[in-house]
Amino acid sequence: MSGVLNLVSVGPGFDDLIVPRAITALRQSDVIVAYELYLRWIQPHIEGKEIHTPPLTQERERALLAIEKARGGARVSLISSGDIGIYAMAALAYEEIREDDTFEVNLIPGITAANACASLLGSPLSHDFATLSLSDLLCPWEWIEHRARHIAQADLACVMYNVQSAGRQQGVYRVLQLMLESKAPHTLCGVVKNAYRPGQQLSIHRLDELPGLKFDMLTTLVIGNRFTQRKRGQIFTPRGYNDWSEGGAGGTQQGNAGQGGAGARTGGDAVSAGAVTRQSLPRGAVWVFSGTSDGNALAASLAEAQERPVVVSTATEYGGTLAQRDCPGVSIWSGRQGVEARRQALGESGARVLVDATHPYASSMSRQLLGLSRELAIPYLRFERGSDYAATDGELCATQELAAERAMANGKRIFLATGSKDVASFLQAPGAGQHEWFLRLSADPDMLQRAIALGVPRERICAMQGPFSAAFNTALWRDWQIDCVVTKDSGEAGGYRAKVEAAQALGIPLIVIGRDEPDYPNLATSFDAVVEQLERWDLA
Ligand code: SAH
Repeated sequence: MSGVLNLVSVGPGFDDLIVPRAITALRQSDVIVAYELYLRWIQPHIEGKEIHTPPLTQERERALLAIEKARGGARVSLISSGDIGIYAMAALAYEEIREDDTFEVNLIPGITAANACASLLGSPLSHDFATLSLSDLLCPWEWIEHRARHIAQADLACVMYNVQSAGRQQGVYRVLQLMLESKAPHTLCGVVKNAYRPGQQLSIHRLDELPGLKFDMLTTLVIGNRFTQRKRGQIFTPRGYNDWSEGGAGGTQQGNAGQGGAGARTGGDAVSAGAVTRQSLPRGAVWVFSGTSDGNALAASLAEAQERPVVVSTATEYGGTLAQRDCPGVSIWSGRQGVEARRQALGESGARVLVDATHPYASSMSRQLLGLSRELAIPYLRFERGSDYAATDGELCATQELAAERAMANGKRIFLATGSKDVASFLQAPGAGQHEWFLRLSADPDMLQRAIALGVPRERICAMQGPFSAAFNTALWRDWQIDCVVTKDSGEAGGYRAKVEAAQALGIPLIVIGRDEPDYPNLATSFDAVVEQLERWDLA
């Protein structure tokens, strides 16, 4: 007689979350091996069977007992809550099963704590996520910290199992501190206890509130990522890849404590000194989407004319701080927003016109704003200085790939003055390993971390806020023995001329990445042209 070992998952709790196949396996078994608590939920399916309940701590004994029974020819079900393959009995059983064992093994999957708890909170795991068990019974504590650090650095959403036990009180606080080193303090999180069981409890918090709470072994933590938002008392993580720099520790929003207490935040509301919430946006305003010094100057001059309220919108909190400095008295809407929040804010506040003064290389943002203008029937005006490029400046390349190729053909020690977002496409270009790459990026810990993660040695990174003079560029490139420079055609605000001059002074080749922009329906290249167009629309 040949035995059967069913490794059966029975879900988080209530009977209707046990999959039918698990129930069939239980019914067809002669012997049940389980931790006592779980028996209560599966009682109707195991009546009259031989039942063994070794204590919770004796996991290996439980596995061995089930295996011995199966070897003896019995049909056995070994049971775990949630999914038996996730921090549970299946792996222990596999460790003990021998290659020459002849009994059949069936693993029946189940709903694990991660998706059970996530479902109660909303949809926080809709994008990439990691799970982390905080129990160090079976692995060294250092591994747990090491993994926590990497999860946080990747800003993965994360589900923590085995959060806190009587004997392990401090670990969770240590892990939360590690998370806070890399994830934004306002990251939305959920705490779920006894999901789909009697005594179910859940609450939503900011990440920086969790260290003030106490947990237990019946609790699971769900930590969002930089894009996780709150709606109707639940949280969700958008599916799409938003602009990474819009979220996260650098470009942040504060939680909106005025809206329902701890952790409450409606997607897109930015609250910082001097900034406005979506509810307090002025009605019928001219919206200037900025993020460059030139865009801020434009907004300030429109506001000075005092014809209409002006809102400046920036994609990062830092951009918002600069806008506050540059545009006194103007409403600033800054921080991580995303298209849905923009749509709502523009619509609800009855925006009169949308002036797109974003960076010439932020073309995905321009396309988004064009789309919103069409959808909401708000006139769209693109503001940008004309291209500064002259054929004598250097070689113009239509794409980054081409620029990488031409830079490698021209130099060995290549300086990327392109902005940090595009660095990866150079460093990962074919043949990039045979060249030495030097970077300049703004003094933002996130960007620095990404550059280091890409393998750029620290001695080849200059982290500093521009603008940079030709003299500064010349000195830096001479000292670093740079023999080729890559830049964008980013205009005066991007310090383009100072790069051309420095490259010419040193006699080194300059590679210029051309602009790739949508066809703008209305384009203004000076402040005056903006005002004229607004007047034509009767808006100035
Ligand atoms: N195999 C199980 C996990 C076992 S580890 C599964 O797939 O779900 C035990 C941990 O899971 C607990 O400490 C707790 O963090 C989590 N957990 C399991 N069931 C839960 C529930 N119903 N509600 C909240 N957390 C739960």
